[in-house]
Amino acid sequence: MLERRKPHLKILLAAPRGFCAGVVRAVEIVERALERYGAPVYVRHEIVHNRHVVEALERKGAVFIEELGEVPPGDQPVILSAHGAAKSVHDTARRRNLFSLDATCPLVSKVHREAEKLFQRGYEIILIGHEGHPEVIGTMGQLPTHAMTLIETEHDAESFRPRLPEKLAYITQTTLSVDDTATIIARLKRRFPTIVGPRKADICYATTNRQEAVKAIAPRCDMVLVIGAPNSSNSRRLVEAATKHGCKRARLIGGADDIAWPELKDVAILGVTASASAPEILVDGVTDRLRKDFTVTIETISTRREAVEFNLPRELRHGRARSARHFFKNHKAEQG
Ligand code: SF4
Repeated sequence: MLERRKPHLKILLAAPRGFCAGVVRAVEIVERALERYGAPVYVRHEIVHNRHVVEALERKGAVFIEELGEVPPGDQPVILSAHGAAKSVHDTARRRNLFSLDATCPLVSKVHREAEKLFQRGYEIILIGHEGHPEVIGTMGQLPTHAMTLIETEHDAESFRPRLPEKLAYITQTTLSVDDTATIIARLKRRFPTIVGPRKADICYATTNRQEAVKAIAPRCDMVLVIGAPNSSNSRRLVEAATKHGCKRARLIGGADDIAWPELKDVAILGVTASASAPEILVDGVTDRLRKDFTVTIETISTRREAVEFNLPRELRHGRARSARHFFKNHKAEQG
């Protein structure tokens, strides 16, 4: 019997994509803690916003909790997620004498320190970010209640009434849209010319690079698939970046099972990227699944090389090098 000829599909793979240095570090902290101290290891919040990663760690013995009150007394470690935690959370851990390990991304910790310094110098502080996001809760929790005002949109920036218009400062969430944040900052600067802030917002290198990469492929694509999670700011910003920069059909999927096949009928060129918390194994899953129905050719469009690595907490630095890198095999090599 003649085999049906599969239609051709060209995939443009954005690079960089997928795991960032902060996520690699956070996952490695959980894995090393499991190796060193045995299960269970408690983790406050999803260590990173990805079900695949969370479930893989659960199978190894991590127990995900929402609040420290759920940790039973004892010596087992409790890990604070990459998004950062309010000071009150660290205080509770100390008060309860818990063995806590901090997986806060160093780039989020940097924003925490900025907030503290500005507060000490008497500034009224604006945080540009998304309400309810764990990073925003953690950053606002570095200072006393009401010390920071959250601004989410251009409209917020326009209607904001400061207490100290001559002594204003802003900081930002690390995973925002580069373009939208620039617009909000421009609006604030126009209204408050003396406002101070970081040179290029606090948006991290990984967020910036992944948005730049998806913008490079979007105009060439009939459709873009962003592999990520709906509660991941990074993932949603990639969908927006693709949509605003040339590809109206951008879809957020968790992995191969979420591909909407009828939508692919008229797609000749498909863009694929992954958010900073999505492992490369999910990208492989999508391309492998597509190969079953299409004759696939893949072209990687690389806009930047990344070589960022963060140290582990001192307690976990030595010993056998287990590695979160198995989650993103191939990817490191590809990015050089
Ligand atoms: Fe850190 Fe940026 Fe990764 Fe968040 S996305 S964990 S801030 S490197």
